[in-house]
Amino acid sequence: MKFFMKKNVLIIASALLLNACGAGKALLSVENSPVVTSIDLVKVIDDKVQVGIDPGAFTVSTVIFRIPKTVPGTYSSDNYGKYIEDFKALDYKGNVLPSTKLDDNSWSISGAVQLDKVQYWVNDTYDTEDEVEDAVFSPAGTNIAEGSNFMLNLHGFVGYFDGFKEVPYSILINKPADLVATTTLAHEADRKPDPVWDAFTASRYFEVIDNPIMYAKPNTESFEINGITVTLSLFSPNNVYKASDLKDRMVAMMGAQKKFLGDVDSTKEYNILLYMSDNTVPDAHGFGALEHHTSTVVVLPETMDIGRLEQAMVDVVSHEFFHIVTPLSVHSKEIQYFDFNDPKMSEHLWMYEGTTEYFANLFQIQQGLISEEDFYERMLTKITNSKFYDDSMSFAVMSKNILEQPYEPNYANVYEKGALINMCLDIILREKSGGEKSMLWLMKELSKKYGTDAPFEDEALFGEIVSMTYPEVDTFFKEHVIGTTPIDYNKYFAKVGLATKNVEEATGYFFDGQVPYMDVDVQNDSVVFIRKNIQLNSFFNNLKLKGGDIFRVINGQDINLETLRPIIGESFGWTPENVVSMTVERDGEMISVEGPVGQPVKMVRKIAALEAVSDETVKLRNAWLKN
Ligand SMILES: [Zn+2]
Repeated sequence: MKFFMKKNVLIIASALLLNACGAGKALLSVENSPVVTSIDLVKVIDDKVQVGIDPGAFTVSTVIFRIPKTVPGTYSSDNYGKYIEDFKALDYKGNVLPSTKLDDNSWSISGAVQLDKVQYWVNDTYDTEDEVEDAVFSPAGTNIAEGSNFMLNLHGFVGYFDGFKEVPYSILINKPADLVATTTLAHEADRKPDPVWDAFTASRYFEVIDNPIMYAKPNTESFEINGITVTLSLFSPNNVYKASDLKDRMVAMMGAQKKFLGDVDSTKEYNILLYMSDNTVPDAHGFGALEHHTSTVVVLPETMDIGRLEQAMVDVVSHEFFHIVTPLSVHSKEIQYFDFNDPKMSEHLWMYEGTTEYFANLFQIQQGLISEEDFYERMLTKITNSKFYDDSMSFAVMSKNILEQPYEPNYANVYEKGALINMCLDIILREKSGGEKSMLWLMKELSKKYGTDAPFEDEALFGEIVSMTYPEVDTFFKEHVIGTTPIDYNKYFAKVGLATKNVEEATGYFFDGQVPYMDVDVQNDSVVFIRKNIQLNSFFNNLKLKGGDIFRVINGQDINLETLRPIIGESFGWTPENVVSMTVERDGEMISVEGPVGQPVKMVRKIAALEAVSDETVKLRNAWLKN
């Protein structure tokens, strides 16, 4: 598994047709009367803030208030209701109405006709991640740090009344005067700016949770990329980083993404909310990001050096940004009408996450941000990582049941095998179309056909794609996405003149880079022996030495830890024809060997070009990688 887990919101359209919820709306006496939400960030008590939710008047006797159990893209049941305390339903006179807690996330309120509002306190997730089992993934979590930072992933603060998810929301936030909000949530239009009150609106509940807000002292950079205004807002608790430190790299990266996407319609505004966690106190440590329609929340450690931080931001943010293609533009009904407390999962994680992750790598080679070698290395790493999961598990079945066993532990394979499925499909499309068509072409066609407000039928998508493409795509889906046959990647690499093969790579005599080929046995007089169960280099192999052999004599010198050091030092000056003599102890026996040291090499697995391939094949490879 990668260090940076990428979790993603399966994005739902921002404007849902009102007839989808007509039955529920009739129960509200005031059509379209907004649910007025207030959050007080000034009066923080015990790391908690108070929230009030004031709906229109109900005409039913009982209503159920819910906080999400899960949110799109996290693929886990997080029960945000567990962080709610002191829940109260109040009538118009301020008296408490009877309510019953149904489960971690739901409260049933009787006498709803009298209900004025509900009120409760919210605890945050970041500083208790160590204490709870199955902690909320930090980019979906919440932070309440009085006077300095509030990470308002609003699904942790704001709930909804059953049957009333499609009504508009008005969100009023009382905030410290020196903190500023970064969010893509719309400001209420007819309200004057106020130093301590922010007022936002959302057309429906989904829009509330799709637009997180981060409050922090100003540390923000904005820039234009081909018609998109990107804002990077950063919270660095010990003031290690400024948003300006990352600006240039983000401008280059997102510019390349826009170029790669070409004419794909996308958002006009995109916000990156970067929370840097402090490892000296209990704080967030689920590093990675959660994407939304028009923003992403990223959590990374503040201790990263600038080089690693930049690379992490490139890899994480590029992935999140590509979600504007899928599921933002291309998604099924399961996602369009997401049920926050009883979600139905889609079969198509191979696309929502796999295509996204594949594009996040492909654009880097196509736009010249990385070399061909780097790209192959990344794909090979994905092949290797994918083998840590169940390679014979149907990807479609896993996706549909991702919250259940035994599928849930295979989730992170969507970033490994999910990306590789797309690589193979991309190669098939290029091959069959003489280099013309690609996965990007397919996604553009699908987004023209469907789009933000028009979901597809989950079970019809495979057939839909096949009808737009080739029978080979059908076979591939049936065998490797719906079916359970592991992919033979070399079959697809061969189409573009590549193969995975073992190749020789230079190494050292006693060290492979920083890693020694030997170890010390402290239990046994600190003798130095050749490490076991590793692949030895040609130097040891040619001398017929083996893992576990104890060095006794080298070039006439008795060997211990002290006397080996100068020999290692000398070895840096050895030339291949230098002759070395060694005596090693193997299973109590002394074995002497002698021979030229040679040029030390090791075997490594690589994706490399096949020799003698046709011009056609090379053209196809170039179409794939350099389009
Ligand atoms: Zn994702």
